Amino acid sequence: MEHNLYIYNTLRRKKELFVPIHEDKVGMYVCGPTVYSDVHLGNCRTFISFDLIYRYLIYLGYKVRYVRNITDAGHLEGDRDEGDDKFAKKAKLEQVEPMEIVQKYTNGFHEILNIFNTLPPNIEPTATGHISEQIEIVKKILETGFAYEKSGTIYFDVEKYSKDFQYGILTNRKLEDLLEGTRELGGQDEKKGRLDFALWIKAKPETLMQWPSPWGWGFPGWHLECSAMSSKYLGNTFDIHGGGMDLQATHHTNEIAQSQACFHTAPANYWMHTNMLTVNGVRMSKSAGNGFLPKELFTGSHPLLDKGYSPMTVRFFMAQSHYRSTLDFSNEALQASEKGYSRLMEGYDRLKKLSFSDTSSIETAGLRAKCEEAMNDDFNSPIAISHLFDALRAINLIHDGKETISATDLKELKDVFKLFIEDVLGLKSETETSAGNEAYKKAIELLLNMRLEAKRNKDWATSDKIRNELTALGFEIKDTKDGFEWKI
Ligand code: AMP
Ligand code: ZN
Repeated sequence: MEHNLYIYNTLRRKKELFVPIHEDKVGMYVCGPTVYSDVHLGNCRTFISFDLIYRYLIYLGYKVRYVRNITDAGHLEGDRDEGDDKFAKKAKLEQVEPMEIVQKYTNGFHEILNIFNTLPPNIEPTATGHISEQIEIVKKILETGFAYEKSGTIYFDVEKYSKDFQYGILTNRKLEDLLEGTRELGGQDEKKGRLDFALWIKAKPETLMQWPSPWGWGFPGWHLECSAMSSKYLGNTFDIHGGGMDLQATHHTNEIAQSQACFHTAPANYWMHTNMLTVNGVRMSKSAGNGFLPKELFTGSHPLLDKGYSPMTVRFFMAQSHYRSTLDFSNEALQASEKGYSRLMEGYDRLKKLSFSDTSSIETAGLRAKCEEAMNDDFNSPIAISHLFDALRAINLIHDGKETISATDLKELKDVFKLFIEDVLGLKSETETSAGNEAYKKAIELLLNMRLEAKRNKDWATSDKIRNELTALGFEIKDTKDGFEWKI
């Protein structure tokens, strides 16, 4: 399969022709959420960006195995090697089992991504489901000599590793610079080097989530799960590894070191990083306290919002910026996206109803190639969208009878719109569902008005029947002096 897809590879800081390991297959691993609280829109941006990437790879005809993990153990407060685990801390706070926290926020994550119309990954492995695989990796790294034990905790020896490999390869940093950027070890620190990180952490008796290992009871370090699960499901070296840009310097840098030390090979050929969603220029994050929950956005209940925005408006807003640019979140930007999205979908509806003529008086046939060219250039969705907007002008002219389109050109135009709007950008019409809701409300009101009419005519049998049957279906009906109120 020959494609001209170029991907910006963080590893070499340039766009490179994408050549998968197996001709028509792609293995892609994306770091998933840490499920100890609700996902915010920044997290959603990263997952929606990779959904678009996944969808375009499928569009190109690749058989993709997309693995996105769930981090449900080992992620400590402040991404450190000591202290409370995020799940245990929340479990104590809510007085529930840590796995109840994990389940609750995994469900919420799935619900939100579903609302955003993202495709589920092919495999969604959890850290707690792969403890033995993680222990195996620690054993191997100990054998290769790139790790050491200190009273039940196993550390990765960064300085030793750096003698053979470039530790900061992903961010193009030298060991000396990295060392300069870290604080001195405190007296009680048991690590040998400042940059060393924990592969396996000894549990305290009160640690809620712990497992037996050759080094006693403990739990895996956060970075280890991704090395274990990516190699298990995609092989020691696979095609694409992705995540948010904030994961480059530590999480992904350590993943590369672990995999290299364990499997003697680099884990992924292409590293892709999504840029951050910001609010007034500040990265959206839980710790900065500027996280918008998707539900606050849909209902408009967040104090910084003028009104609510639909899920597809938000998805369109995200697709309108390139995944490697920062995206700033504001009322104005969302309002513009809302307008743009409805213009695009109205044009698409209009296209579906166009009729053809014998010949085309306007050029539309090149649209597929233009959209592909944009997406082949490191998934440039904003450019692809601008080509679709250009085509809207032609659609309107044909609709107004000022231009004509042949049957073949019309079919091609319809195919391209469907492929790019629905399959690649993952946008779906929202008017159908809201029209459905409207019709449903009107039907209930029709019934209740019939009941009112029956009451006026003292036809109690009919009025009771309508009320009783609606109540049995779960509706709450209240008589008021002006008529009725109802809810479900
Ligand atoms: P976490 O649940 O914190 O492990 O994050 C899940 C994913 O969301 C990671 O890939 C992060 O890089 C990404 N992420 C976190 N904050 C943002 C943000 N403001 N914009 C885009 N992606 C983000
Ligand atoms: Zn990861």
